[in-house]
Parts: sequence; structure tokens; C-alpha cells
Amino acid sequence: MKLTLIVPCYNEEGNILPLYNKVKETFEEKITDYEFVFINDGSTDRTGAILAALVKTADIPMKVVNFSRNFGKESGIYAGLHYADGEYICVMDGDLQQNPSFLLEMTGYLDDHPDCDCVAAYQENRSESPALIFFKDGFYKIINKISDTEFVMGASDFRTFRRNVAETILNMPEYHRFSKGIFSWVGFNTHYIPYQADDRLTGTTKWSFLKLWKYAFEGILAFSTKPLELPFWGGLGLTGIGLLRTAVAAAKKDDSGKTNGLIALIGGLNMAATGIAGIYLSKTYVQSKGRPVYIAKSVLTNRK
Ligand code: UDP
Ligand code: MG
Repeated sequence: MKLTLIVPCYNEEGNILPLYNKVKETFEEKITDYEFVFINDGSTDRTGAILAALVKTADIPMKVVNFSRNFGKESGIYAGLHYADGEYICVMDGDLQQNPSFLLEMTGYLDDHPDCDCVAAYQENRSESPALIFFKDGFYKIINKISDTEFVMGASDFRTFRRNVAETILNMPEYHRFSKGIFSWVGFNTHYIPYQADDRLTGTTKWSFLKLWKYAFEGILAFSTKPLELPFWGGLGLTGIGLLRTAVAAAKKDDSGKTNGLIALIGGLNMAATGIAGIYLSKTYVQSKGRPVYIAKSVLTNRK
């Protein structure tokens, strides 16, 4: 199997058949050996029924994974990787915002560049509200400062990658998944291509501002332990200030200054102690994710 298309769907009843037809029409003779893996993520509309009917009549290999409830797109992508048989694997949305013609470009690039492992699309011009752009830009600035993993502005989950990338990601069973970070964390050679997202064919976005906010927070927690370590450094600073203040006040025989200094000193020591616990907790947290200790892309040897 050359290509697997993973399509996470949550209430996409009006988009499934148009998507299926558009992919077929776009691929025609250009890509013939491909399959669909649709994830029905606990949809409450007719998505499940439409997929069940489609899988019976489709002339393209297809798997439909029906979740028991809504688990979120990230879980959908992970499940899709489990069921994918393709040499190349693509994640695309079920609302036709991403034109399947980009898949020809992505797979073509992988064909022509054996050293490239992943082709990811990023939105060059975003037709989002200024408030949303401000919020997203702020998120990328913050996370790139506090995380060792690089987050590329505007990069989406719309990407096509080789099996080795998929298998590596399958080995990362962390529960709170943040794909943008995971794709970046695993490394491999990624080529970015610009794309313009179309409007949703039917239905509405599943992202409210509150959901986006929570998602951004999730990303920071999943890829940085700095918030847990912050009290240690803050506490250290406060301890230093408290010490200095106490010493200066003692020299000046300023009793109230000494009291203030001692309060800062005790507060600082307390905070630093909490921070030390935070540092230990951050190590445990990272360990508990069970991420691979290393990822070897290939091993060369001259032995037979
Ligand atoms: N989706 C999903 N589970 C969810 C939310 C969304 O599988 O809980 C799917 C959705 O059906 C779509 C894709 O994820 O195929 C992207 O969602 P959406 O279009 O709402 O996001 P946007 O394009 O607005 O960022
Ligand atoms: Mg969408």
C-alpha cells in the first residue's frame, strides 16, 4: 500500500462523501494504491451511518474506526496510525479545508527525496481574526522560549510522512497528546510547503476560543516543565533579596527593615523548597510519558 489517508471526523456528515469523491477525482491515475482510514470520533450526527454505508460500497480500500465517545482529534490521529498500512501516511481533516491536490505534491516530494521523511503544510496567509492571530503568535513565541522542542508557526497536522515516522510516534503512548509537538520532537527531515486553507465545506469548526486556550495550555504542559521549575528560581531570587535586606537593615539597626527582610527570606526559602519538589516532579513527569530515550533513523554497519 503506497498511501494511507487518516481522516479524523467529528460530526462531518455533510463532508464525508464530497471528500471521498474529491480525493478519488484528484488522484485518478496519479495515485492508485491508497486507502482511507476514517476515525469517527464519537460523532452525534449521521457521520457513523454515512461511513458504515460508504465502507460497504467504496471501491477504494477503507477502514472505519468508530470511537465509543468523543476522544478528540489527537486520539483520532493516534488510532489512525495503528490502522494505517501505507508506506506513506497522511493526516488530513474531514472538512475539505485541505485540498487533496496537495497530497500529490507531498507524495511526489517524498518520491523524489529519499532523505526526506515528512512533508508538512503550513499556512502562509491565515484568514483568521486579528485576535486569534495575536493569540496564536503569542503561543508560538512563549512555547518556543520555554520548550526544547521547536514549534513552527502556522504548521498544521496536515502532513504526509513515511512509515518510520509513524512507527516512532506509535511508540509514544502519552495520554495528553499534542501532535504539533510530537511531530517536531521525533525529529526526522521535514520539508515545509505553504498552503492556503479553503473554507469548510459544511458544518462548523469544533474549536471555540476556550477550547483553543485549553489546547495551547495542554501544549505547554506537554512540552515544557519550566512552569514546575519556576518557583525554584523565584524562591532563590527572593531568598537573595531577603538576605541582603536583612543584612543591610541589621547594619543600620533598622528593626522593621530586618523583619521585612526575614519575611522575604523565609518566603523565598519556602518557595525554593517547593521549586525543588517541582524539579523532581518534572523529572518524574517526563519519565512517566514513556517517550523513547533515542530514535535511530538508520544503523549502518560493514558486517555481514
Ligand atoms: N475533529 C475530531 N475530533 C474532535 C474535533 C475535531 O476528529 O473532537 C476533526 C474534525 O472533524 C476535522 C478535524 O478534526 O476533520 C479538524 O477540526 P476542525 O475543522 O473543527 O478544526 P479547524 O479546521 O477549525 O482548526
Ligand atoms: Mg477545519
